[in-house]
Amino acid sequence: MPSLQSLLDQVDQATNEIVEFHQSLVRIPTVNTGFMPTGDETDVAVYIKEWLAKEGIDSQLLARDEGRDNIISVLPGADHEKTRLMYMSHTDVVPVEDWDKWRFDPFSAEISGGRIYGRGASDCKALLASQLMAMAIFKRNDVRLSHGLRLVSGADEEHGGRWGFGWLADNHPETLESEFAVNEGGGTPVETGSSLAYLLGTGEKGRMEVHIRFKGVSAHASVAWTGTNSSYALANALGAIEGYEPDLDTSLEFFNHLGTFAIEDRPTPGNIESIIAQANEDNPRLGTILRALSRMTLTPTMINGGIKSNSVPEVFELTCDVRTLPFQTEEYVREQLDKVLEGIPGVEYDIDYMSVPNESPFETELAEAIKRAQSLAVSRDDIQWVPAVSNGFTDSRFTRNLGIVTYGFSGVHPDDDPTLSRAHGTDESVGIASLVSATKCMIALAYDMCGGS
Ligand SMILES: [Zn+2]
Repeated sequence: MPSLQSLLDQVDQATNEIVEFHQSLVRIPTVNTGFMPTGDETDVAVYIKEWLAKEGIDSQLLARDEGRDNIISVLPGADHEKTRLMYMSHTDVVPVEDWDKWRFDPFSAEISGGRIYGRGASDCKALLASQLMAMAIFKRNDVRLSHGLRLVSGADEEHGGRWGFGWLADNHPETLESEFAVNEGGGTPVETGSSLAYLLGTGEKGRMEVHIRFKGVSAHASVAWTGTNSSYALANALGAIEGYEPDLDTSLEFFNHLGTFAIEDRPTPGNIESIIAQANEDNPRLGTILRALSRMTLTPTMINGGIKSNSVPEVFELTCDVRTLPFQTEEYVREQLDKVLEGIPGVEYDIDYMSVPNESPFETELAEAIKRAQSLAVSRDDIQWVPAVSNGFTDSRFTRNLGIVTYGFSGVHPDDDPTLSRAHGTDESVGIASLVSATKCMIALAYDMCGGS
C-alpha cells in the first residue's frame, strides 16, 4: 500500500522520464488550422495509447473523422460507479505563425534554461504529460482507488472542440461521465507582493462574434453624391465603439478576494476604475484581469467591404469580438449594441455564439482538494486561492454544461513565471519545475478525490 508521499517522491526520481515523455509529445505536430483536413491528433493519440499499454493501462480512441482521434482512459474504482475525477486536456496545437522568429524549431522540444520550448509545450501538452505520468505512477504502484479516475484528451480544442469534447458530449456522453474535472484555464500563480496566490479557473467569459453590416447605395465614384457611401456609417460606428463605456460590474466572486492582492478598498462599480489604475502601476497582470472581469468587451477585429476602387461601396461589414460576463445574456448584448449603434443609418447586425459563458461554484470538495494538492506538491502552506473567470474559453464549457464541476487547474510551480509560457505565441515553453509540480499535483489530487490506497 504506497503512501501518497512515496508516490510524490517517485515523481522527483522520474524527472528525466517526464521531460523526455513531454518532449516526445511536443515532437508530434498536431497543428489545427481550423480547416479540414487538419489536426492529425490521431498521431499523438496512437502514441499515447501505446505508451499507456506498455504501462498496462487500457485506453480507447474515438474520432468523428479519420485522423482526429480523442483518447479516453479510465482507472476504475472499487465502487464501479461513474468516475469521481476526470483529467482533461487537449492534443491539438495552434499553428506556428512565423518560424523564423523562434529560437528553436517549434517541434524540436529543445531544452534551454530549465524550460522546454515548442508549440504546444505549454498549451496543452504539459498538462497532458503530467496527467498521463500520474496515471502511470498509480498503476506502477498498484494504487487502489475507491472511486474511478478518468483521463480524456480531446482533439480540436483550439478551434471550438467540434471534433473533440463538443463531439464527445453530444455523441458519446458516457465517455465524459464524471463527478468532477480539472482542465487547462487556471491554476496559475499571481504575484501579490508578500504572499503567494493562485487563480483557480472557476468559469469563462462568453465569446460572440458580432457581424455589423452598413448598407448604402452604390454609384460611380466620379459622381459619388448620387449614391450613399456606406464607409461613413462604418466610420461613425467605429467611433461609437471606441467611445463605448461598458457597464462596470464587481459582482463576480473574484472581487471578494482582492484583499489577497493587498487591495484594501471594497470594489464597487464606482471605484473599480481607480483600483484598476493603481493595479496597472503595481501589478499590470492583475490590472488586466480586473479590467476583463469587470465588464463586457466589444472589440472591432475585421472589416470587409467595397468591390472596386472606382465604385461607391454599397456594403461594409464590421466584425467585432464580444466577451460577456457569466450573467450577461444575448438580450443584454443586443441592448448594448443598439445603444452604441443608435442613430447610424442603414445598420443591421447578427450575433454568432462561439461560447456561452459558464461557471462552476467555488465552494466544492474539489476546490478543497486542489488547495491541499498544490500545497503538498510544492511544499508551501501559505497559498491563497482566488476564484477567477478567464477571458478565454476551453473545453470546460462542455463538461460544465453536463453538470460536471470543472476547474482550470494545472499545477504550475510558484517560481515559474506564467508570462514565460507564451501559449499561442512565439517561443512557447514550459518550465521543467512546472512539469514536475503538475505531475505531483495530479497525483495528490486524484489520490485524495478518488480515495487512493
Ligand atoms: Zn489550450
